Amino acid sequence: MTEVYFKRAEYDYAVLKLIVFEMIEAIAGDRFHPNARVLIKPNLLSPAKPEKAILTHPLLVRAAVEYVLEKGGRPLVADSPGMGSFERILKEGGFKDAFDPLNRHVEFKPFKTTVKMDIGEPFGLIDIARSAVEADVVINLAKLKTHTQMLLTLGVKNLFGCIVGFKKPEWHMRSGVDRNMFARLLVQIYQTIHPAVTLVDGILALEGQGPGRRGKPRHIGMLIGSCSGPAADMAICQMLGIDPNKLPTLHAAKELGLLEGDLEIIGDFTVISNYKLPELGPLTFGPKFSQKYMRKHLIQRPVVEPEICRMCGECWKICPAGAITPYEEIIGFDYDRCIRCYCCIEVCPHGALQAVETLPGRLIRKLTKLDH
Ligand code: SF4
Ligand code: SF4
Repeated sequence: MTEVYFKRAEYDYAVLKLIVFEMIEAIAGDRFHPNARVLIKPNLLSPAKPEKAILTHPLLVRAAVEYVLEKGGRPLVADSPGMGSFERILKEGGFKDAFDPLNRHVEFKPFKTTVKMDIGEPFGLIDIARSAVEADVVINLAKLKTHTQMLLTLGVKNLFGCIVGFKKPEWHMRSGVDRNMFARLLVQIYQTIHPAVTLVDGILALEGQGPGRRGKPRHIGMLIGSCSGPAADMAICQMLGIDPNKLPTLHAAKELGLLEGDLEIIGDFTVISNYKLPELGPLTFGPKFSQKYMRKHLIQRPVVEPEICRMCGECWKICPAGAITPYEEIIGFDYDRCIRCYCCIEVCPHGALQAVETLPGRLIRKLTKLDH
């Protein structure tokens, strides 16, 4: 039986702090000892204000830090942002303001160095942030968001941030466009880091075309926590009325034996209606020899809205396939090279990119009634 805690919450620090303390204590209080190195891993995808609901809220991060300090531990807040400087994320994301009154030394830094870890077949050795591997305890602080590639980004997926910088899109590419293979990679990374606590910030969540600026903030007012990321993700699917089998990471977690036994739901669980999911395109179908053709002609492709694009360069810098070329006033895509990882859409700071279904793709989907 794995416990998952649900607690109604708002970003009112005095109350939120008590809730976070209580939740972490119930989940893994005995894991925190004086002098322990504690990694706190929020979602720091890109510079975004808290009201955009793209990042883990700074007050939640602060509460986790204060908990660790009270236990005599040494907190480190770290992530590997998809784009933007770490400094800018801290400023724009409200972390500098939130931590100011703490008046104590709290270390914030982007992951830089890595160690090779064997995460198991079929991936083998991969580079994971050293601070995540060497921490005595990891607190995983995820955001409840939609994700156009993986449906939702919750507890399990949050630890993909422990893959450093440009290695991230490389892994997208190496996992191909197979959503289930990518989900398996995410679960095996989660398993390797093995956080003691996963808290998911579902107070101001993101729905629609997340996880970036195309998503829409949605107030849910719920903090969710568990010792198991997959269990927390499963219970969140239940809360949102989503069939857990549709979340690829849960499917992979089940296959890997991480979701055995029942969940014990504790606290203010409630079903949320009309949570808007993103539009997902089919990533692979049909025999292997035809997949290149299908990828080019049938699968949703990234498209730019020229009037919104500011030629900032984030998309072509991150593209693992070198499929984006900047011209004088517009970017161009080489759809032969593009592997449909959608990293460009995820990092675009202006919401100028979106995945658009091709006409033949739409026709085929309708004819074959592929699950959309
Ligand atoms: S599409 Fe977005 S990320 Fe790419 S250059 Fe334009 S504004 Fe920047
Ligand atoms: S163009 Fe965008 S979707 Fe295509 S490979 Fe590059 S980053 Fe991925």
